[in-house]
Amino acid sequence: MAEFGYDIDYAKKLLENDSLVAIPTETVYGLAANATSSIAVTKIFKTKERPSFDPLIIHTYSLDRLNDYVTSIPYKATLLTKRFWPGALTLLLPKKSNIPDIVTSGLDTVAVRVPNHPLTLALLKSLSFPLAAPSANPFGYISPTLAQHVNNQLGDKIEYILDGGACEVGIESTIIGFENALPTVHRLGGVSVEDIESIIGEVDVKPHSSSNPVAPGMLQNHYAPKKKLIIGNIDKLLQHHDNVGIISFQKQYNIQHQIQLSKKGDLDEAAQTLFGAMRQLDNEDISLIISEYVPNIGLGRAINDRLKRAAIKQ
Ligand code: AMP
Ligand code: MG
Repeated sequence: MAEFGYDIDYAKKLLENDSLVAIPTETVYGLAANATSSIAVTKIFKTKERPSFDPLIIHTYSLDRLNDYVTSIPYKATLLTKRFWPGALTLLLPKKSNIPDIVTSGLDTVAVRVPNHPLTLALLKSLSFPLAAPSANPFGYISPTLAQHVNNQLGDKIEYILDGGACEVGIESTIIGFENALPTVHRLGGVSVEDIESIIGEVDVKPHSSSNPVAPGMLQNHYAPKKKLIIGNIDKLLQHHDNVGIISFQKQYNIQHQIQLSKKGDLDEAAQTLFGAMRQLDNEDISLIISEYVPNIGLGRAINDRLKRAAIKQ
């Protein structure tokens, strides 16, 4: 099992030696490596069993560092960084050559953000390179929102987990690109489309397109528990299925295995709870998870996107 702790100097030493370290962010835990080292980044793909066509997000500590890694920053991108960084918003921007092709899966753009977590910001400030960090889970499985989740699945493959407690946002960052006339949201996430549009006006939302143009749709099944998950009207589904666990938005059911995402109907709280709920029910003695969509506004859109992908079995 991996060691847990708050030792930034130790994490720094490991990263400088091309080793991996799990890091806390406000979205989910990341599996971090020196983004400028192909050797280190290769270890991320191997450890996660992640296909090489799925590019990584790089993390830095300040907007001022952005010009070190990208060749240009559109005005709307700058407006977004000023409003949402540090935070759960990732920008796709044309990359400089110091970012190896393995990080971007050969694409000309690099995904970059400034995460909002004090431990990880302190670590990033202490380093002379940015960190490439996808979620710290085996590829396709539910993302980790606690250090213990990382340890359960990758603990025998990595040495150290920086323990930053429970992730405050609980779902991945929103990804936005500027390659078309309208900025395009490629992944729904921790910053809502409404909040983005309040700063830069209308955006296009195409969350189901794969990041890789040569492999469209390949990533539709993602964020998934091992157990089968069905989404619909919970009351109706209960009439047809036994031995189930329930993930409801607000409502309480008279059943042993059930998790309410937010008793008070708060979508931010529901986002925080979602992945932990899937993980918990995945480990309980039930044969099926049933769930329902939440209101499709604000973070509800990202929650529904995750539920939908978790329910697709290939
Ligand atoms: P993860 O860090 O595991 O949440 O995954 C990062 C995601 O960012 C990938 O699955 C892609 O969908 C997306 N991404 C990263 N870089 C790019 C890029 N250059 N172009 C489009 N999407 C990207
Ligand atoms: Mg991921």
